[in-house]
Amino acid sequence: MGAAADIGIGRNLTVAVAIGLLACAPREDGASGAASQELGAGWVDVSATLDPAKTPVYEGDAPMKFEFLREIRKGDIVTLSALSMGAHSGTHIDAPMHFVADGAPIDQVALDRLIGPARVIDISDSVRTIDADELNRHDWKSAKRVLFRTRSSLRGWMGSPEFHRDFAYIAPDAAQLLADAGVVLVGVDYLSSEEFGATAPRTHQILLGRGIPIVEGLDLRPIEAGEYEMIVLPIKVAGHEGAPARAIMRKTRD
Ligand SMILES: [Zn+2]
Repeated sequence: MGAAADIGIGRNLTVAVAIGLLACAPREDGASGAASQELGAGWVDVSATLDPAKTPVYEGDAPMKFEFLREIRKGDIVTLSALSMGAHSGTHIDAPMHFVADGAPIDQVALDRLIGPARVIDISDSVRTIDADELNRHDWKSAKRVLFRTRSSLRGWMGSPEFHRDFAYIAPDAAQLLADAGVVLVGVDYLSSEEFGATAPRTHQILLGRGIPIVEGLDLRPIEAGEYEMIVLPIKVAGHEGAPARAIMRKTRD
């Protein structure tokens, strides 16, 4: 009896310790939209959540299709999914190969471009065209990485399934200024940096032609303009022109 009780107590302790460990462990359930609250040390998640019901897809691009092949909640021993989507889904990185013959694929983009200081620039809701004049209205010149927080963030477009054609884009003359200044990364808060329906992909060609990766589809709603540290890492897909990425930022100063 005594021994059985001891075993019982032992078991309860084991369970309590296990629950304690689970409570401390980072959450891995991928709860949509909750990630930014769970990051410590000032890091903010600026990735769009990939969810076919909530994430916009660029007009004409491959649809997002996520399905469960097996599910514990339906009596299977395991939960197993298949994910199908375009390489430019949600928050993603364009590698030079996207618009440059012989350009580097996403698995060969240097990681040092994707980690480091970044400046977030506020572009007002009325502005659709970020051209050289608009760019020069802002303090951008000493920045190594430049991210534009535009009407898309103000309107929450990366969190709504409808595709909007009238997103703010980087005009070729602004892309040229950024490239000539030695910026190592450019980012935007909607699914493309190029004007919708542009007759030629000049902005992409200028930036990618200089080996400057473009981060598209950032969800910059949780942050404001200022100086940040940034980490944006694409999944490592061999020989393709882009891939979805996770992006986090931490403010260093205004
Ligand atoms: Zn892209």
